[in-house]
Amino acid sequence: MKITRISVYQVDLPLHEGSYKWASGKSVAVFDSTVVKIETDSGIEGYGEVCPLGPVYLPSYAAGARAGIKEIAPNLIGQDPTELAVLVDNMDRWLKGHPYVKSAIDMACWDILGKAAGLPIAKLLGGTYGDDFALYRAISQLPPKEMAENVKMYKDQGYKKFQLKVGGNPWEDIERIRECAKVLDNSDQLVADANCGWLMHDAVKVANGVRDVNVYIEQPCTSYEECLSIRRRTTLPFVLDECIDGLGILLRGFQDHAMDVVNIKISKFGGLTRARQARDLCVSLGIVMTIEDTWGGDVITAAISHLAHSTPEEFLFSATDFNSYVTKSIADGAPQRINGRMAAPTSPGLGVTPIWEALGAPVMVCDGSE
Ligand code: MG
Repeated sequence: MKITRISVYQVDLPLHEGSYKWASGKSVAVFDSTVVKIETDSGIEGYGEVCPLGPVYLPSYAAGARAGIKEIAPNLIGQDPTELAVLVDNMDRWLKGHPYVKSAIDMACWDILGKAAGLPIAKLLGGTYGDDFALYRAISQLPPKEMAENVKMYKDQGYKKFQLKVGGNPWEDIERIRECAKVLDNSDQLVADANCGWLMHDAVKVANGVRDVNVYIEQPCTSYEECLSIRRRTTLPFVLDECIDGLGILLRGFQDHAMDVVNIKISKFGGLTRARQARDLCVSLGIVMTIEDTWGGDVITAAISHLAHSTPEEFLFSATDFNSYVTKSIADGAPQRINGRMAAPTSPGLGVTPIWEALGAPVMVCDGSE
């Protein structure tokens, strides 16, 4: 099988809540997402998506994803999309770094592989555990009482796992955590995610200030070393996210006892091929995971569902349903949240079909002719 054409679409995804706010005053109102369609000489086509959380979260941005795909697309024409390891190696030869650029392409090729095999991606990733899996809800940064009201609202919708966006003023963050914990039961899961937003002296104040609360501390500071310092000064369970971007740092974190949980964001690892490697390594090492991405719509939510549903239940800390945060549906067949839980589609590949009217005309098409 050979790739014959690559089309790229840009789509705006507004949020139901109007905006999403996290550490250090950062916010996004409309997500700029990129969808890729890969066509082949067999008639099978595959879809992928990448959606950075704005330009100031990780070293990635929406226009950069499209520029990067344009850069490597001519090389992809004629390649076999079902040979994922070869394809991913080749992409690294054509463009150094920029894993998020390669994520949507890798995802679309997994979609093609699944359709060629007649199997859902979750089966190709090892098979599914249980009927469905639990989701977390990210709670945008607001004054403490408003965040607690939102936690209560989403708890009433069936969620049992909550990720508070903190990383602001440490005394207000302590209040945020305490107010939100009040509306939860012991069986609920509460994470205070600073998204790199604290310096070490503030992170220590918060960790000490909530040491009696049933809460996880997530990525308090920017660097791995700063986070490790806070980890060594708290007894609370600890999550690493932004600084975990490959197998090397995962192994270092394991050796240093730097975390109890890690977040695997598909695009940060460069797609499902590399995220799956990290997932399997975590299972072997005994590290629990949240399976997610930087953001996205229906296509990314489907990809997350396949990786999450094929992760052993005891290792799946939580996962996300980004398509329920945004007002726009871009694909039919995407998994939908039911009572705070979700299941991977059972049809071949990702199991989604783009809604072409929602995506509009492609912003870039490459068939190797120019
Ligand atoms: Mg996080």
